[in-house]
Amino acid sequence: MDRGPRVAGRAPGAIEHAVSSHPHAFSRYCMQCGQRLTTAIPENDTRRRLVCLDCGFVHYINPRPVAGTIPVRDDGRILLVRRAISPRMGMWVFPGGYMDVGETAEEAAARETLEEAHLEVVNLQLLGVYTRPEPGVVVIVYEAVARGEGEAGHETSEIGWFHPERIPWDELAFDSTGWALRDWLKRRGLG
Ligand SMILES: [Zn+2]
Repeated sequence: MDRGPRVAGRAPGAIEHAVSSHPHAFSRYCMQCGQRLTTAIPENDTRRRLVCLDCGFVHYINPRPVAGTIPVRDDGRILLVRRAISPRMGMWVFPGGYMDVGETAEEAAARETLEEAHLEVVNLQLLGVYTRPEPGVVVIVYEAVARGEGEAGHETSEIGWFHPERIPWDELAFDSTGWALRDWLKRRGLG
């Protein structure tokens, strides 16, 4: 039984967009009482949220942290991986992924690099933090020293070691990929 207000026919707003585009599916139903959630501005709040009109539960949608590395070899080449999954399948990105509870950002970045490129990295140095408001991710990127050659791993169709002047700018997966690579070039005095 739907005791909430009718929301059909209203133009989609930011909250609906966040719900539909969020990288991880989540329940549209109240975690406390099971009623369908709707959108409203809670008391003492200024933003539209997913709320339960039955019990008052507010389901906050927060960005998710992603951690990744730009692995660098002795010869100055960096590792990128070609995505074998959506979104942006076939495009190049540095290895990275969603953090798990219980690990630090550095651990997550190194783990993702091992999973996606079978590459061990050490000496992680924070390069930058990049927000993609849509779909709601905060990307934490480290420069790291590569140990070995690596090979295509989980969610990756191919790996590539790129000289700075050969970075495939037209085939990068995300805005944040380009932002981090430009910052890395600047740090190296190559920007
Ligand atoms: Zn509820």
